[in-house]
Amino acid sequence: MSIPVDHPRYHSLRVRERLAQAMQAGVVAPEGLCAHGRGESFYYLLGEQTIPSAQEAARCAAALFFVAKHPMISVNGNTAVLAASEIASLQKVTGAMVEVGLFHRTEERILMITDLLTAAGVQVLKGEAERLLPLSHDRAFCLRHGIYEADLVLVPLEDGDRAGALALLGKKVITIDLNPLSRTSRTATLPIIAEVTEVLPLITSYATSLTQSEAISILDTMPDPVWFLQAALDTISQRLSHVLD
Ligand code: ATP
Repeated sequence: MSIPVDHPRYHSLRVRERLAQAMQAGVVAPEGLCAHGRGESFYYLLGEQTIPSAQEAARCAAALFFVAKHPMISVNGNTAVLAASEIASLQKVTGAMVEVGLFHRTEERILMITDLLTAAGVQVLKGEAERLLPLSHDRAFCLRHGIYEADLVLVPLEDGDRAGALALLGKKVITIDLNPLSRTSRTATLPIIAEVTEVLPLITSYATSLTQSEAISILDTMPDPVWFLQAALDTISQRLSHVLD
C-alpha cells in the first residue's frame, strides 16, 4: 500500500504498515497489533508528545542504569520492529545486555527477533531459557545469566504480570508504556509513560553525559512511581478539559 506523504497521519500509518508486515512475517504476534492500538489511543490522549514528567523519568532511568551492576533490556516483537536501532544506541551507552522476552513465545520468533536486532547492531544475549520467573505460561522463561540475575530490567511494552514477577524477585523495573493505568505501569519501580521510539533516545542522551555524582543526586530525589502515573493522568485530564476550547 502506498501512503501519500502529505497525509496528516503519514508517520503513524507507516508505523502501522511496518507492524502489519512484521506480523505477516511472524515477527510480531497478531495480538501485538492490538497492543499497538492501545498505545496509540493513549498517545493521542497525552497530546502526541513526551510530557515533562516522562522526560524526568527518562533522566531517572539513565541514573538507574548508571548505578546498576547487571542491567538488562527485555525486548519483544513490537519493540524490536519499532525501535531496534534505538535499543542498539541505548545498549552502547549503558552496557546493558539485551534479552528477547516474549509473551507469545516460539523458538522461531525468538530467532527472527534476534536476527532483526542483530542487524540493527544490538548484541543479543543467547542461551537456553529456563522457567525461572514466578509465572504460569511461557512468560516464565528467561535466561539465568540474563534477566534472572539482573538487578535492573528495562521492559518496554511489557505485560503486567511479567513486570510484577520481576519486581517480586527484587529487581528494579523500568517500564515504558503509554498507558498510565496498565498493570505494567502500576507495578514498575520507574514507570515511563511515553512512546517507546521517542523516549529511548532521551534515556540514551541523558546516559551519555551523566557523571556518578549526578546519578546519585538524581536517585536521591527521584519521585515515587505514583508521582509519574499521576502526572500523566493529570496531563490527560487537563487536555480533555480544554482540548475543544
Ligand atoms: P497490562 O497487562 O500491563 O495491564 P496490557 O494488557 O495493556 O497491560 P499489553 O496488551 O501487553 O498490556 O499491551 C502493551 C502495552 O504497550 C499497552 O498498554 C500499550 O499502551 C503499550 N504500547 C503500545 N505501543 C506502544 C508504544 N509505541 N510506546 C509505548 N507504549 C506502547
